[in-house]
Amino acid sequence: MPHSFLKLDGKQVSEHVMTELKSSVVQFTQNWKRPPGLDVVLVGENPASQIYVGHKEKAALKLGFTSNIHRLPSKVTQKELESKILSLVMNDQVDGILLQMPLPTHLDSQKLIEMIPFEKDVDGFSEKSVGALCLGRPKAVACTPAGVMELLKFYQINVTGLNAVVVGRSSIVGKPMAMLLINAGATVTVCHSKTVNLKSHLKSADLVVVAAGQPEFLHADNFKQNAVVIDVGIHRTSSQKIVGDVNPVGLELVAKAATPVPGGVGPMTIAMLLSNTLMLAKYRMEK
Ligand code: NAD
Repeated sequence: MPHSFLKLDGKQVSEHVMTELKSSVVQFTQNWKRPPGLDVVLVGENPASQIYVGHKEKAALKLGFTSNIHRLPSKVTQKELESKILSLVMNDQVDGILLQMPLPTHLDSQKLIEMIPFEKDVDGFSEKSVGALCLGRPKAVACTPAGVMELLKFYQINVTGLNAVVVGRSSIVGKPMAMLLINAGATVTVCHSKTVNLKSHLKSADLVVVAAGQPEFLHADNFKQNAVVIDVGIHRTSSQKIVGDVNPVGLELVAKAATPVPGGVGPMTIAMLLSNTLMLAKYRMEK
């Protein structure tokens, strides 16, 4: 039988999620006489962060959220930043608070994250949000892994019983990804920079999520026949090409399904951020 291959189109799925969100935002606004609100705190002039934050604001406004960006200079003190976050925590119109990472190194990122209460933690990075995910009763989950799950759900890829390998153990992608897959019934192996013989783990995986931050370091022949391959990596080459952690050449001949880069996991991240914001807004208002 000829091999069939499914491209997991994150652009299309994110548009689908956003369309549904837009009508839910209208509903929320009617019910509570105000739109849901996402506030973003941006420190310094990191060019990538500026672009990400701009995209987040544009998408939020397009769907009918209110969105404010609080820009602070890179020399802001810990105390000043703490009082900015506190003011957003106390503001009843603010449903989601996002502290754009990375912060300048003189700031204590984790302490600032912990100031954001569970009910407003749209990035799902705080200890309480991560703990809730581990216990299998999450609220907001880190947006990129949540986007991967949404993509799998859209294409009806059931992970229950699959052997899944997550490559990467960061707190924002690898670890929450592994937790989501465990909660969904997959048997999960987490590989990382100290893993001995990554290739043998990959060869037995039905589903691989790659978030290693290494441009095109995996190839089609690293995967098992009919594996599902999710590439979270995103890199700009010296010739300005966007590539992932997986070299896509020949992947369609081996994988059953895979995400492209760009246009795979990336577009899902903002969709999930807004979905988290609306979910937390409803949770807080209905409480
Ligand atoms: P990170 O650098 O914090 O973590 C990388 C992880 O990969 C580490 O746990 C490390 O142990 C592991 N690793 C590194 N080299 C490895 C190797 N050779 N073999 C096995 N494991 C290895 O990165 P991150 O923040 O988790 O992001 C990972 C990638 O995903 C990056 O390319 C990043 O740009 C991308 N990303 C994309 C989105 C999106 O929206 N598409 C969001 C977040 C991150």
